[in-house]
Amino acid sequence: MITINPHYQKLQDSYLFATISKRVDAFQKANPDREIIKLGIGDVTLPLPSACIDAFRQGVDEMADEKTFQGYGPYEGYLFLREKIAESDFAKRGARISADEVFVSDGAKSDSANIQEIFSNDVIVAIPDPVYPVYLDTNVMAGRTGAFEAGRYQRVVYLDSTKANGFVPEPPSSAVDLIYLCYPNNPTGATISKSQLRSWVDYAHQNKALILYDAAYVAFIRDPSLPQSIYEIEGADEVAIEFRSFSKTAGFTGTRCAYSIIPKVCRAFDQSGNRRSPHQLWERRLSTKFNGVSYPVQKAAAAVYSETGQKQIRELGDYYLRNAGLIRREMTALGFDCVGGDNSPYIWVNAKMDSWKLFDLLLSEAGVVCTPGAGFGACGEGYIRLSAFNSYQNVEKAMVRIKSAL
Ligand SMILES: *Cc1c(COP(=O)(O)O)cnc(C)c1O
Repeated sequence: MITINPHYQKLQDSYLFATISKRVDAFQKANPDREIIKLGIGDVTLPLPSACIDAFRQGVDEMADEKTFQGYGPYEGYLFLREKIAESDFAKRGARISADEVFVSDGAKSDSANIQEIFSNDVIVAIPDPVYPVYLDTNVMAGRTGAFEAGRYQRVVYLDSTKANGFVPEPPSSAVDLIYLCYPNNPTGATISKSQLRSWVDYAHQNKALILYDAAYVAFIRDPSLPQSIYEIEGADEVAIEFRSFSKTAGFTGTRCAYSIIPKVCRAFDQSGNRRSPHQLWERRLSTKFNGVSYPVQKAAAAVYSETGQKQIRELGDYYLRNAGLIRREMTALGFDCVGGDNSPYIWVNAKMDSWKLFDLLLSEAGVVCTPGAGFGACGEGYIRLSAFNSYQNVEKAMVRIKSAL
């Protein structure tokens, strides 16, 4: 008898985006002449920078010629890309990361989902609330949680991100083993300071824990005092893995390229307490389960680090940040408490009512779609997420409509 993985039965159906699109469709059907503006999306809207497109095309042309054709590439990514990453994203920030500590992949989603399999099934996992659902669900699938009871999984230590802690949780008082952090945050848009991040690194050292640091939104950081990488914190290389992506940085959501940093000195432990290397385990896993990212895509990603590429991705980030600034200013002027939107493309708005209630109100009265915070976890109730991923014209129009609707 073929039985299923019983842990999958613990998963909660993700009604969030399905419910949103059902309500939007129903509204559009009832009001066919109303134009709907979507500020709910976690996907970029501007095309790839021309520097990336040129390199992408060149990569495709090379594939067409026997002399330059590429078959299977290195599963950890081409050195030409890993060297640029190590130099531009880390060395320039004072973080000592070498090219052979970079693993290029098809996405930060898959990396942050897959990494947990190199750790024991009995580790205690700490997960932010509200959260990018991937961290939680992949641990449910692996059997690291108990049942879902009263709105939360047993055995998970939830890190509440609330107004009281400025949406940046402190390390827990109990011991946890595997910690997920994401800054700038999805969905709250909150950022973490160096001293706050240092307290997590210290906690990981004291508790022999490991931090998984998702920096997918690093391209939106403009405040020079904020850390861009966890490796800017002394000692983090021993206790942290970092995920990065070209998705939000350079518009690669449909092109697929990301990378993970696993320093060689990063440590985990075997059952007897001996130090083991997550770097080696991940390398071993990749060689078994992955055959690398396509050559033209890696060429396109490497172009991000050219002079033109750097200028173009800066402009991309600035464009969305201008939207974010407008959203935050207008919502604040309307009397809503907001976080995010200054170093992040998301604005987390205190709804002053049930999240779905404000969702329905904005949809029916303003024709604007947001994301109800309740869909990201218990602490998201009472909030909505507004996304800056749209055109400036649409954001302007949405804000005018919200102002007259409320
Ligand atoms: C968008 C996003 C990513 C990027 O995922 P890709 O698979 O690289 O497109 C990673 N983490 C978070 C929190 C995100 O919102």
